[in-house]
Amino acid sequence: MTETRTAGTSTASGSVPAIRLRKLTKVFGDTVAVDGIDLDIRQGEFFSMLGPSGSGKTTVLRLIAGFELPTSGSIELEGRDVTRLAPFQRDVNTVFQDYALFPHMSLVDNVAYGLRVRGVPRAERRERAREALERVQLGKFVGRKPAQLSGGQRQRVALARALVVEPKVLLLDEPLGALDLKLRQQMQVELKELQRSLGITFIFVTHDQEEALTMSDRIGVFNNGSLEQIGTAHEIYERPAGTFVANFVGTSNIFDAAHARQLYGRADPVCVRPERLRLSWSGAPETGVGVTARPGTVTSLVYVGHATQVRVQLDDGPVVVVLEPDSLPGSDVELLGRRVSVSWDDDAVVWLPSDVA
Ligand code: ATP
Repeated sequence: MTETRTAGTSTASGSVPAIRLRKLTKVFGDTVAVDGIDLDIRQGEFFSMLGPSGSGKTTVLRLIAGFELPTSGSIELEGRDVTRLAPFQRDVNTVFQDYALFPHMSLVDNVAYGLRVRGVPRAERRERAREALERVQLGKFVGRKPAQLSGGQRQRVALARALVVEPKVLLLDEPLGALDLKLRQQMQVELKELQRSLGITFIFVTHDQEEALTMSDRIGVFNNGSLEQIGTAHEIYERPAGTFVANFVGTSNIFDAAHARQLYGRADPVCVRPERLRLSWSGAPETGVGVTARPGTVTSLVYVGHATQVRVQLDDGPVVVVLEPDSLPGSDVELLGRRVSVSWDDDAVVWLPSDVA
């Protein structure tokens, strides 16, 4: 069965996508912020848009929300063309990084506000607001004002307020960006659990690759207004589609086309992740079928808690990072400058197409 590409029809999996973007383009003056993006996001999916600053992810989110109109292309929400509709005519809601709560209102009134605008009777909207606050573990604080909460709690109120109107799709624009690392990690787990239990489609914008890898069912990696790769965290990490993704997501050791030709006789760049490299501290090269070993010199050692990142300048190659999980055979001073051998298996090598490099 081939996937149908016509607007409003089923995908190969049999259901209409929550969001379908076709040739979506947005130009601001002489900047092409979004450059002809095609993307289907499934119903109930946690989809992250990941990319460096200025790569176009927020603009895509704002186009889906209706805060911007595209220069060309189309946006469908569950099979319905919403490209030219106003934000309030779309069944989506947005959570922003800066919360945008009303400071003079109690939490329950803040959360109930969206229902009030939609004409929901008072008793019902207060009931639904209380339920939404319960869901984000703020049931105890319904009478408080935003100023009486921590940053993480305020972010939960913003979530409750967006969820109370039961949107089909929730758009989240770097919602954890203002939180410290510990709280951020805790909220990542909570957000994921909430999304799973509600079954709502979440579209999450972040420039933090770890956040995207932890939370998402699938990730779209943006670069210069285009999507470089769409895939699960595993696919993107293990099989990056090009040097941009290999470099942006996790740490990569990239051998350029010339080095790859020396090693394998084929002139395309390759990538090997640090945890797939092994070190021989004695300098004796590892041998065996399907193993490549190269000599080099240790240039730095960085302890990262569960392992040590050892940088090795290969004699006939780049500086590579090796993640060494075991305890080291000496002090930093003894090991710096040591002649070693670095080895890896053939199946750790990912070929990267030259044209994306
Ligand atoms: P960040 O992570 O920094 O928010 P981003 O990936 O979300 O970045 P966008 O905000 O979508 O990137 O911006 C994409 C490009 O479009 C940038 O070059 C930006 O300067 C430009 N841009 C965005 N909004 C406007 C605007 N209203 N007017 C002019 N240019 C804009």
